[in-house]
Amino acid sequence: MNRKLIAGNWKMNGLRADLSIIREVAAGASPSLQAPELLLCVPATLLGEAVQAATGAALKIGGQTCQAADKGAFTGDISAPMLAEIGAHYVIIGHSERRTGHGETDEMVAAQARAAVNAALTAIICVGETLEQRASARTLEVIEGQLAGSLQGLKSPASFVIAYEPLWAIGTGKVATPAQIGEVHAFIRAFLVDRFGPPGRGVRILYGGSLNPANAPEILPIQDVDGGLIGGASLKAGDFLAIYATASALTV
Ligand code: PEP
Repeated sequence: MNRKLIAGNWKMNGLRADLSIIREVAAGASPSLQAPELLLCVPATLLGEAVQAATGAALKIGGQTCQAADKGAFTGDISAPMLAEIGAHYVIIGHSERRTGHGETDEMVAAQARAAVNAALTAIICVGETLEQRASARTLEVIEGQLAGSLQGLKSPASFVIAYEPLWAIGTGKVATPAQIGEVHAFIRAFLVDRFGPPGRGVRILYGGSLNPANAPEILPIQDVDGGLIGGASLKAGDFLAIYATASALTV
């Protein structure tokens, strides 16, 4: 069984006043190596203080995107070496809000993931289908295309995590059924094993989409669900830690 990863995505939320949430989450993180890994991906403006708030605790801090280039004329962007230097361990790559809102293609996602890995960050690469694609029975075809495109050039399966996030479930309160999640996660696992051989079994596959303390007990035990990528519920320390507690109970 892979060590579970409970990852929060704060998106464009969080001011200094919210650092107290990070301190509360940090205080609730278990130092045991058997416990799930706990991660908060915060806005770039909070990264430095978030890293400080998590220092000494079993809480890691991550970014939410990065440039494919290490430096240069990319006004407003942030590079993977910048994230690594400030103390981030992970970075979310190809979140649907970046794919749709910023026109990020699979090729761009792959280049960003390679940059993250080169900077010794772990890339959390997001894939997921729209409601229309699911309705027309194209979910697996879409996921396969996104995986093939977004993993180009990544050689070490230990350097990335996949997050399956059906677009229609992100921030909507609609959750994929256990059968839908199980089918896609098994498909992703088979893809990874086909691509990387047995080490593909060690790649963690997260589910994301309206995960909360109430539905976590049904979702986190599903085969090949190695944790969650959590938006809204990661903004409340109590809710986020409740999901972490559910994951922790599964690993003992
Ligand atoms: C996300 O931001 O990746 C996400 C899954 O958000 P939410 O949990 O709010 O649906």
